[in-house]
Amino acid sequence: MTIVDAIAEPLPRAVIDLAALRRNVAHLAAIAAPAEVMLAVKADAYGHGLLPIAEAGLEAGATSLAVLEVPAGLVLRRAGVTAPLLAWLHGQDTDWRAAIENDVQLGISARWQLDAIAAAGADRPAVVHLKVDTGLSRNGATRADWPGLVDSALALQERGIVRVRAAWSHLADASLEEDRRALAEFHEAVAEAQARGARFEILHLAASSAGIRMPEARFDLVRFGIAAYGFSPFDDATGAELGLIPTMRLEAPVTEVHVDGTTRVRIGIGYGDGVPTLGIAKASVQLAGRRCPVVAVEVDSMLVDAGDARVRAGDPAILFGPGTDGEATAETWADWAETIADEMITGVAARVPRVYVG
Ligand SMILES: *Cc1c(COP(=O)(O)O)cnc(C)c1O
Repeated sequence: MTIVDAIAEPLPRAVIDLAALRRNVAHLAAIAAPAEVMLAVKADAYGHGLLPIAEAGLEAGATSLAVLEVPAGLVLRRAGVTAPLLAWLHGQDTDWRAAIENDVQLGISARWQLDAIAAAGADRPAVVHLKVDTGLSRNGATRADWPGLVDSALALQERGIVRVRAAWSHLADASLEEDRRALAEFHEAVAEAQARGARFEILHLAASSAGIRMPEARFDLVRFGIAAYGFSPFDDATGAELGLIPTMRLEAPVTEVHVDGTTRVRIGIGYGDGVPTLGIAKASVQLAGRRCPVVAVEVDSMLVDAGDARVRAGDPAILFGPGTDGEATAETWADWAETIADEMITGVAARVPRVYVG
């Protein structure tokens, strides 16, 4: 092969459309109303960048943020975000005192977490959301442990160490029947806690899926994640069909053009940047206004068959975007790679610069 054109510095980038994010959040807020929107910004806002997404989401009508772990909550506080924050994944090194004193609300699944709060010696009560497992078996007190967790929290509330704000759980989103069963289970757990003296200020259960299709699961707030980033939580509908706009466009420049009968071009992004290697036989990238099949994916580059397209080094190739210019969406890539859009967007490596527009 003959390299006929090349550039020296291949720089892929993820372009984040904050206007699209705001439109999605406003759209979801209208669907969920009167329930409020807690925007899930875990995993660096699903790969979009924590702070810009948090700020845009709050501007668009989200009233609180779900951060997963305390350090992310502290990052937002240090950046001046004043909205309520919920963190629920805790470990032995969780800084409970910093969380409480920076008003990071805490999802609580186990007694040891309450013990840690009591031992933290913070200058104010911890605001806690007691989490019950309703079938997902992932982070949440089992129904057997639930009464004990509630009693411990109420005892600490008496002593002014915690304020029990919420009861909550998370749905598996596997099937409507399963979610209905989990909802019934949640109602039972709440009633059981109330019978023991709990007076919850709010209840929450739904994420994107139930938030959109299961009104009876919305309670006081919906924790929207993937839908806010423009993707469908359902197999039977795309994000576009739900009125959502993908908020990330992943692109990289052509770095080399080879001519050998047909034109093969090297694009400056590879599996080290988060491009999946599975399913590349089906994959294509958008180049010079058309879809060009992917031939190979390497660590920092990929090879694309550009056919007879006129391509020059430096031209942008779009891997995925909103889908409005003929390019694939992250949902399309997820189909090729046999995964979900969540993994496509969250998997874009940290070394790929995020560029904000809108
Ligand atoms: C990730 C997450 C969400 C958001 O889920 P989506 O399906 O992306 O909307 C909500 N709640 C909890 C507890 C989560 O972990």
